[in-house]
Amino acid sequence: MDILLLGPPGAGKGTQGALLAERLGLPKFATGDLLRDAVKRGTPVGLRAKAVMEAGQLVSDEIIMGVVRDELAKPEARNGVIFDGVVRTIAQADGVTALLTELGRKMDHVLFFDVPDQEILARIEKRRGIEGRADDDPAAVATRLQAYRAQTAPVLDWYRSRGQVHLIQAVGDVKAIAATVQGIIGR
Ligand code: AMP
Repeated sequence: MDILLLGPPGAGKGTQGALLAERLGLPKFATGDLLRDAVKRGTPVGLRAKAVMEAGQLVSDEIIMGVVRDELAKPEARNGVIFDGVVRTIAQADGVTALLTELGRKMDHVLFFDVPDQEILARIEKRRGIEGRADDDPAAVATRLQAYRAQTAPVLDWYRSRGQVHLIQAVGDVKAIAATVQGIIGR
């Protein structure tokens, strides 16, 4: 089963994705985590992505699609994955759909985590104190939200026009939100 998590930065995709991945026994595939790891290890992808990430801009579709292709080729991804923060542009939506089609698969569920702007800013500020991510500083956050609105928000309509997108009000108790997700997925 392939599940796509959509929503602005700080919407809880990572938290809910981890719970979902554990419950369904599927790998969570988060490009942000993979890129941060690549930056830390100084790989060619990491070297290309570092400055762009720190500024809060989107890494090129070419780099992302390379990462997606590699991840989907892994044996542990054969039964499906939880896509967390991966489809962030229309080009990526096209690319991921094509890759899944090659594998005889499709995105089985698309979940959109809806959180008001004020709450997002508060959550990211809190996370900044805990994780110390360079792109959680206020200037980079503003750029990330701008990138989200300009490049990622249209992805929601792209999926809506091709099937059902489940809208989840992702404010409040983590467990209650997880229960809503469970109700939608059916397990
Ligand atoms: P995240 O951890 O999902 O917030 O991602 C952190 C940063 O990694 C983003 O601000 C982008 O610079 C980069 N990134 C992660 N996933 C993608 C993606 N699918 N497309 C473009 N850039 C991405």
